[in-house]
Amino acid sequence: MATAPRLPADLSREAALARDAADPLAGFIGEFTLPEATIYLNGNSLGPSPSAALARVNEAATEEWSRRLITSWNRSGWFQLPYRLGDRIARLIGANAGEVVMTDGTSINLFRMVAAALALRPDRRVIVMEGSNFPTDNYVVQGLIATLGQGHVIRFAEHDAIAAAIDGDVAVVVLTQTHYKTGHILDMAAITARAHEAGALALWDLCHSAGAIPVDLNGCNADLAVGCTYKYLNGGPGSPGFQFAAKRHQADLVQPLTGWWGHGAPFAFDRDYAPATGIGRTLTGTQPILSMVAAEAGIDIAERAGLDRARAKSRALGALFQDLVAARLGDAGFELGSPADPDARGGHIAYEHPQGYPIMKALISRGVIGDFRAPSSIRFGFSPLYLRYVDIWDAVEILHDIMMSGAWRDPAFAAVEAVT
Ligand SMILES: *Cc1c(COP(=O)(O)O)cnc(C)c1O
Repeated sequence: MATAPRLPADLSREAALARDAADPLAGFIGEFTLPEATIYLNGNSLGPSPSAALARVNEAATEEWSRRLITSWNRSGWFQLPYRLGDRIARLIGANAGEVVMTDGTSINLFRMVAAALALRPDRRVIVMEGSNFPTDNYVVQGLIATLGQGHVIRFAEHDAIAAAIDGDVAVVVLTQTHYKTGHILDMAAITARAHEAGALALWDLCHSAGAIPVDLNGCNADLAVGCTYKYLNGGPGSPGFQFAAKRHQADLVQPLTGWWGHGAPFAFDRDYAPATGIGRTLTGTQPILSMVAAEAGIDIAERAGLDRARAKSRALGALFQDLVAARLGDAGFELGSPADPDARGGHIAYEHPQGYPIMKALISRGVIGDFRAPSSIRFGFSPLYLRYVDIWDAVEILHDIMMSGAWRDPAFAAVEAVT
């Protein structure tokens, strides 16, 4: 690090080191396999690999797949994985055993769950969504509406305008609790209550919540939910997502992707579909077992860390980053793209900067990995399980250096890659 900045004592590098020394979650960093000289601020997009996940995949491949072959569906518990891991995820999101299955990806699960919600409200045609949500949610619902051909429409409303958009025409509100770009957390309890008051259902996307903040689906009376495990739950690239259906809806739940894994007796090989009685009816077909077993390690870490402790540290890391950016980069053109109150946002923070893309590229070249979201957001995620306070301090110092030296102007950083 170049020159020592003049900062208030509580924002010094020494203070950051002292916080690390007192951090009850500090030991978890040793459970991850991370590259050298890297400050990984992108766990909100792809969590890093737990070492136990790598060992578990190796074991599943060599022992369960190679040696036990097809007997592993029984002997290694493969067939039960969606349920067993679903029950573990349930504890992290305020659901009960038998209300969650791990399966497929979020986009697929959303298709299934929105269709199920519309079938529960057959005389209503409006779906309330936030237009600024992660686009796949919009695309999935648009495709579903076109497939159904029953005249459903999406009523887009943002943040504070959501409650007023919910009326007696609404079948379901489909919202992401923690916004993918701004990190803004919607009030799940209040919006769900408002939906129920209007006779509508509430379906929550927990992609940026699961593993990042304590979630209480049943405490909020949520009806349906989906989410992914490759972000804050560190499940691995493309690890299966999950879906939740409250117990009270399960007997009436009809979903369109009816396959043999959702059948009440899959090995009876009956000609006609007859759904399983519980959450199992939301399954479709054979699951990616190696990806599933990989994901269990991250779920296990989240359980042991405890979401209250994890959230408290993540909040503190984000607040430190925010304070350091304000102190060190106040005149560098960064505008906060997230709620200023750390309690009002999830595990990441966004800044708007017209040169966001090359700045992020320059940061990555220096080992500080965040990401860019068009048109001008750069995001920094604060996963508490493998980040230290001093990492946050060093990251802002490197950002300061890139801005002051003009290093980001190197034309190499302007070339846009396929995945930002
Ligand atoms: C990450 C994310 C997804 C991902 O969907 P996939 O089907 O896993 O690609 C969906 N919705 C939201 C809100 C997300 O943040």
